[in-house]
Amino acid sequence: MDRLQLLGMDDVELLTFVTDTLGESKFRAKQIREWLNRGAAIDEMTNLSAALRSKLSEIAVANPVTIMESYKSKLDETEKFLYALPDGNLIEGVVMRYHHGDTLCVSTQVGCRMGCAFCASTLEGRVRNLTPGEILGQVAAANRHIQKEDPSRRVHNIVLMGSGEPLDNYDNVVKFLKLVNDPAGLNISLRNVSLSTCGLVPRMYDFAEEGLPVTLSLSLHAPNDEIRKKLMPVANAYPYEQVIAACKNYVEKTGRRVIFEYALVKDVNSDTKCADELAKRLRGLQCHVNLIPLNDVKERNLSAPTRQTVEAFQRRLALKNISATVRREMGADIEGACGQLRRKVLTQAKP
Ligand code: SF4
Repeated sequence: MDRLQLLGMDDVELLTFVTDTLGESKFRAKQIREWLNRGAAIDEMTNLSAALRSKLSEIAVANPVTIMESYKSKLDETEKFLYALPDGNLIEGVVMRYHHGDTLCVSTQVGCRMGCAFCASTLEGRVRNLTPGEILGQVAAANRHIQKEDPSRRVHNIVLMGSGEPLDNYDNVVKFLKLVNDPAGLNISLRNVSLSTCGLVPRMYDFAEEGLPVTLSLSLHAPNDEIRKKLMPVANAYPYEQVIAACKNYVEKTGRRVIFEYALVKDVNSDTKCADELAKRLRGLQCHVNLIPLNDVKERNLSAPTRQTVEAFQRRLALKNISATVRREMGADIEGACGQLRRKVLTQAKP
């Protein structure tokens, strides 16, 4: 039997579980919540009786996610995690330390079915969706891990940019966002959360209606449909114009600018002609462009352009009044890109 995931319960669910399933008084729910916020396991909840902890452990788990391995970069303070899930699946996460606090990149699915050409997470398709508790569990486990070294550290910003397409796991992701923002829980402001999508247009419209002040990051990676289709199969379902229209709607509904992610790939989308076309497409839209020199994906034979090409692309956008920055490469020595570490571990495990 799958055990219940306490971390994935909202306050009402936790209270009902404590009173109806466990037959305990209401105040136990508050005690359990406090332990969950600290990332504690059930056997560490020492203000519950031993009998209650034992009963609880039979039917539930506090955090379904455990850090199996961690790798610290020698180049910066980036740390990569390989998390184990209760069914033996593995996912990845990375924490980046900035002067304004720690940013954690979380996964929303095991694998992904979107098929982007530059992404290692999709090579074996989507295995399954993560539960709200498994998404929140990554934050709780990372917090506990980094606080062992420095108790003043905590995850301050979250980017939903790990493996998986968040809007392809819509309900669980929306529940996670509400849980992580809960003042009685981890209480992370949704203004510090970015959700990255490859452009599932109908879900982008739904998401704009949720009233959640999350920053939307759109993986664009091309200036037109022709190139986008080569990199992202989703472009066959939702053409460029529709994606941009959904972004405009998001800006109008939430008042928040959209971030466009643009991975620069050698000989594919990185010349100045592409920059000009991109600038034309984005004109008038409240947005910012993140330029990302591609992390080489051996399996796909794709690589990054030269630094001069990257800089020329950025200058060209600036000339046309499109704000753009080149994303600093973090943790380059620890398989920093999405899906690479899990894949390496899985490949090594195969006979
Ligand atoms: S980039 Fe994101 S949406 Fe595309 S395949 Fe990878 S995980 Fe999926």
